[in-house]
Amino acid sequence: MKLSKLASEIAESPTLALNEQARLLRERGEAVIHLGIGEPKNKTPINAILASAAKLSSGEVKYTPADGTPALKKAIIRYTEENYNRLVAPENVIVTNGAKQSLFNIFYSILNPQDEVIVLAPYWVSYPEIIKMCLGRPVIVTPQDGTFVPTFDEIERAVTSYTRAIIVNSPNNPSGAVYPPELIEKLVEFCERKGIFMVCDDIYHKLVFDGKEAAPAYRFTKRDVENSYVIVVNGVAKVYGMTGFRVGWVVAPRQLVRVMTNVTAQTTSGVSPVSQAAAEGALNGMQNVVEAIRLQIQNNREVLLQEMRTFNGARLIKPEGTFYALPDLRAFNSNSVEISSFLLKKAMVVTVPGKEFGMEGHIRLSISGSVKDVTEGIARIKWALDPTSPNEIYIGDKKMVRDWL
Ligand code: PLP
Repeated sequence: MKLSKLASEIAESPTLALNEQARLLRERGEAVIHLGIGEPKNKTPINAILASAAKLSSGEVKYTPADGTPALKKAIIRYTEENYNRLVAPENVIVTNGAKQSLFNIFYSILNPQDEVIVLAPYWVSYPEIIKMCLGRPVIVTPQDGTFVPTFDEIERAVTSYTRAIIVNSPNNPSGAVYPPELIEKLVEFCERKGIFMVCDDIYHKLVFDGKEAAPAYRFTKRDVENSYVIVVNGVAKVYGMTGFRVGWVVAPRQLVRVMTNVTAQTTSGVSPVSQAAAEGALNGMQNVVEAIRLQIQNNREVLLQEMRTFNGARLIKPEGTFYALPDLRAFNSNSVEISSFLLKKAMVVTVPGKEFGMEGHIRLSISGSVKDVTEGIARIKWALDPTSPNEIYIGDKKMVRDWL
C-alpha cells in the first residue's frame, strides 16, 4: 500500500502504546502498576460537570466558532489577567482540541518547509513529531552538564538563520525541572531581539512544589501582546485533571490567532460546546481543586524521594513540579527501551523509556497515581534492578524471587 512518506515516518505515541500493553496485561489478571500515564486521578471538578451538564441538557449542542465560544474566551482572558498579569483581547485567544492541537496549529502557522525549531532536552515526546508534521526541523539542545536545563549559551549556539521558534516547557515533562527565571528572562530578550517566537508550553504551570513558581515569559517582556514574540499555550488537562475534555488554548498576537483560526476552521472546526462549557466551569469555578491536585502530587513526590533514597545505583534530580520524575539508570543499563520492557516483564511496572524524551539511560516515572502506586512501583523497580534490595517480593498475591542478579 502506498502511503504518505511524511505521515508514515511519524512515530507512534509511546505512552499510548504502553497504555495498551498495560491494559492487555491487566486483562490477563496481572497486577500491573502504571507509572507511565500522565494524568491526575481526581474526578472532574464539580463546576465543570455542572456547566457541561447544563449545556448538554439545553439540547443546543451545535457548531461553535472556530476560535472558541465567547464565554470560554472571556474566562481565558480573566485567567490570563489573573495568572500572567496581562490584559489580552478576544482576538488574542484561540481555543483548541487540547494543548496538543494548540502546538500543532502554532507550528503549522509559523513554519515554512525546512525552518528550524529549537527543542530543549529532555522534551515532551510530541514536539519533534509535531514540528516534522509541519515540515519543520526540530533542533535538539541537550544540557551537557548532566542537568535537565540547557544553558543559555548552549541554546544560543543552536540558533541559525533558519530558526523560527524555541519551545520552552517549564515545569518540564518529563524531568519535573522548573527553568530558572534568569534563563526565561534571557530567552525572552534574545527571542524578541532576533524575531524568533518563544513558544511557552505552560500546561503544568500551577503544578510547582515547595512554594516555588515557574516564572512566566510575559513577566520579562515590555512589549504588548501584539508586538511580542511570546506565545503561551495552556489548557485544562493537567492543572484541573480534565484530560478527556480536550480543551487547550493559545494566547498570541492577533495576526497569528487569525491564521490559526483559519487552520482550525478547515480541519477540526471549533471544540465541542460541551467541552468548552466544562472548561469555562473549571476556570470560573472553585480553584481549590487545583491546589488539591498540586498538594497530592507534592506528597507523592515526597514519597518518591523517600523510596529513591534506598535505590542504590539510581540517580535522581529532584523534580520541582509536574507529576514526573526522570531517574538516571545508566548504572544498570544504558538502553532505556530495554530497561522499560524488562521492568514491565519482570516487575509489572509501566514506565516510559527516556530515549523517547531525548534522555537515553533514564526512565520517566509518572507519580500522578496513588501513594500506594508510587511506593509499590518503586519497590518493584528496586527489586528488579538493585542487587542490594531484598530478593523476594509480592506482586499481587504472587511471591516472586529474583534469580537474575
Ligand atoms: N504539553 C505537554 C508538555 C504535555 O505533557 C501534554 C500532555 O501530556 C500536552 C502538552 C498535551 O495536553 P493536552 O492533553 O491538553 O492536549
